[in-house]
Amino acid sequence: MKQLELLHEGKSKQVYKTESDEHIIIRFKDDATAFYNIKRAKIENKGKMNAEISSLVLDYLNRNGIKTHFVERDGNDGQLCRVVEHFPIEVIVRNIIAGSMAKRLGLEEGLVPDNTIFDLCLRDSELGDPLINDHHAVALGLVSYEELATIYEASAKINALLVELYHKAGIILVDFKIEFGRTASGELILADELTPDTCRLWDEATGERMDKDRFRRDLGRVRETYEEVASRLANALK
Ligand code: UDP
Repeated sequence: MKQLELLHEGKSKQVYKTESDEHIIIRFKDDATAFYNIKRAKIENKGKMNAEISSLVLDYLNRNGIKTHFVERDGNDGQLCRVVEHFPIEVIVRNIIAGSMAKRLGLEEGLVPDNTIFDLCLRDSELGDPLINDHHAVALGLVSYEELATIYEASAKINALLVELYHKAGIILVDFKIEFGRTASGELILADELTPDTCRLWDEATGERMDKDRFRRDLGRVRETYEEVASRLANALK
């Protein structure tokens, strides 16, 4: 589909209009940012690798009964996607304690909780995407309880499918962030990237971090690691 004008440019992606009102093209940039834009860098090939990883993962979810915005890969660094109106919330799914949850509750990273944890956050980067609960979200008119039930059910299914896929790639899916939206025809679908920028991935064999924490925490080999995730996923899906 033909790419028309730029609609929006974010920290790591550009969104373009297409000839169809129901479709957009999302292009992944090489820019890496962390801590709400305080830390910035360009990582060569990251845009292409994120387009590759997100396309592989979203196509896999589409084929396994999850409704997503992904239609097809577009060029090296892009995806053709369905247009949605996003709910202004983020769901964070946690299989292992890490990052902000470890910090907030004084827990050690790597702790395995008794059950999967679903966090709800308000999507507002000026406020630091604060943690909220279902009642806040409904009271603020962001989403209904029925919509939340659908969102949690989909998040649990997405998690189960992704844990299995990453395990085939020798990778532990520690946690990830996802967003949902509604299409013009009213379908509630997953509408987000699924990349090492938005997931925590640990190597099953070595425990090495294979995600944006390499950039956040100055661990080096960021580019090589994103390439490794793409190649392992491609193999796991063969
Ligand atoms: N995450 C994200 N965008 C956000 C916040 C979190 O993609 O605005 C992802 C993050 O990469 C990690 C997971 O969600 O995979 C959990 O993040 P956490 O709450 O631990 O926050 P962080 O440690 O990244 O500040």
